[in-house]
Amino acid sequence: MKQKITIAVTGGSSGRGRILVAANLSTALTDMGLKVTYLDCDVENALEFHYLNPNWYLEFEVEKRVPEIDPERCSHCGECTALCQFNAIADLGDSVLTFPNRCYSCGACVHFCPSGAISETLQSTGRVRLGYSGTIRVVDGRINIGERHGESVIQAVRQQEADSGATIITAGTSGLNGAVLRNVDHVILVMGATPFGIHEYHRTAEYLKQIKIPFSTVIKNDGIGDQKTAEYCRRLNIPVLMQLPPDLDNTAARPVDNHLPETDRWIMEQFHSLGHQIMTERAS
Ligand code: SF4
Ligand code: SF4
Repeated sequence: MKQKITIAVTGGSSGRGRILVAANLSTALTDMGLKVTYLDCDVENALEFHYLNPNWYLEFEVEKRVPEIDPERCSHCGECTALCQFNAIADLGDSVLTFPNRCYSCGACVHFCPSGAISETLQSTGRVRLGYSGTIRVVDGRINIGERHGESVIQAVRQQEADSGATIITAGTSGLNGAVLRNVDHVILVMGATPFGIHEYHRTAEYLKQIKIPFSTVIKNDGIGDQKTAEYCRRLNIPVLMQLPPDLDNTAARPVDNHLPETDRWIMEQFHSLGHQIMTERAS
């Protein structure tokens, strides 16, 4: 059987901490000889790859099925409006309006329309790019402006996952959903050393416990503020994998020519030891 591990790296609002960890972990696992796929599932965020800087070789549109009404056949029974849980369709009496950006493509309105007045058509929801950063395969998804649901784009990104080696997924804590977390073996939560964001962290930790995905923490900007984050993790028995010093966003760990800089051996060693730790736990 092919060995495979999927790790999601998540974190708070700016996204810089988790991208830094995800990119450097990807590089460390590559250095260990693993085939690595890096999936950016933060489809609502315009963050670019500060660290991996991939060369893109392909881009494609992602589409979803949305309803299309035939006004000649519609009897204005109101069934579709009542059925749709996402307010993506409205019967105004003399016409039926659809709001494709809200539609989840569940197909319920199509199936239950008593007049057979609803068919399906395809609408673009976003795009996916494929690239390489050295030997790391990078996949990046973005939803269109105004699109409410990113699932179709996330699914398209996840479909690019290799069936062996390591997959590193990045997404913000607010974007963790079933599509992002499907078949994920471990989640790394990257958080600051200050109490800011502890509520978000707690909410995410509780969610991961509920859905039974093991998780651990990387503390960034260690030494700034108090030790509340470390205390919190200790209290809840959440493993702390690494404590990163401040200012990494702008200095160390920013790769030149798709590689980690030679200038910060300490950081490189930290990520290599994190990679070894993860793979050892995977094998045990
Ligand atoms: S369910 Fe069909 S017939 Fe009824 S309002 Fe909607 S589109 Fe018209
Ligand atoms: S397909 Fe589902 S989500 Fe979309 S409009 Fe119809 S009922 Fe609503």
